[in-house]
Amino acid sequence: MSDMSNKVALITGASSGIGRATAELFAEKGSRVALAARRQAELDSLVADIEARGGQAIAIKTDVSVSADVERMVSHTIDAFGRLDYAVNNAGIEGRFAGITELSEADWDQVLGINLKGTFLGMQHQARAMLAAGNGGAIVNVGSVNSFLGFATGAAYCTSKHGLIGLTTSVSAELASQGIRVNLVCPGIVDTPMHQRLRQDIGDEVYDQGVLPSVHLERAGQPEEIAQAIVFLCSDEASYITGSTLTPDGGLTLTV
Ligand code: NAD
Repeated sequence: MSDMSNKVALITGASSGIGRATAELFAEKGSRVALAARRQAELDSLVADIEARGGQAIAIKTDVSVSADVERMVSHTIDAFGRLDYAVNNAGIEGRFAGITELSEADWDQVLGINLKGTFLGMQHQARAMLAAGNGGAIVNVGSVNSFLGFATGAAYCTSKHGLIGLTTSVSAELASQGIRVNLVCPGIVDTPMHQRLRQDIGDEVYDQGVLPSVHLERAGQPEEIAQAIVFLCSDEASYITGSTLTPDGGLTLTV
């Protein structure tokens, strides 16, 4: 893969799951990494892990649904590392699943505020920084197979993830001429703390007999496998890919 040393990557939701694996992979490839999430202690421990392996990382406590936090997240990255080459808007929550007659306005606002508005805010400040530097860049947003598929009780989550397709493709069209590529990664079932919470909610039996059989590869993905897709889309190997979706889902969306 192309040389990613001397590059700077900013990853939201870096304290756990897919975001953590992505930060570790960028660091392994020599990039300096800015780690953003809400939990300071988890971020600090990841910074220590990356530094122990010879990498460079900073932690930036951020709530991606708060505009001032997101602005500070990007400016702190530039202050610390002098540039921003790759941005991964991965932070997300599943929220509370509820039927449309039960879903509260607060549930809706929380999920849309983090998953969709948080990505909008992230891209806005990342794009401003990349445009000001004039070196191009790559932004990857993290959707889901639920960017294409709905499910009962999933209106808020699925709407937030469907919205990321419109957000990603529109912004990719705006930024392409300035050398900034914007893509969406849509994972299937991935073994992370979020996934473990969902599995606990629905129960092992329903999961094993109702959910897993819809995955052609017959297993959950690992966060590291999603990180590979994200880092690929940032790399020069993906130089002709923008406004696109990549769906590492073990074949889930192929199922009829
Ligand atoms: P996770 O719960 O393990 O990690 C989510 C991360 O987002 C954590 O670091 C958390 O602190 C952070 N976060 C949540 N709200 C935040 C906020 N307001 N501000 C800043 N950070 C915030 O989950 P994961 O499975 O690693 O999920 C990462 C992304 O992948 C999410 O967008 C999720 O929707 C998506 N996804 C996950 C799966 C799966 O099966 N695990 C499948 C499809 C898509």
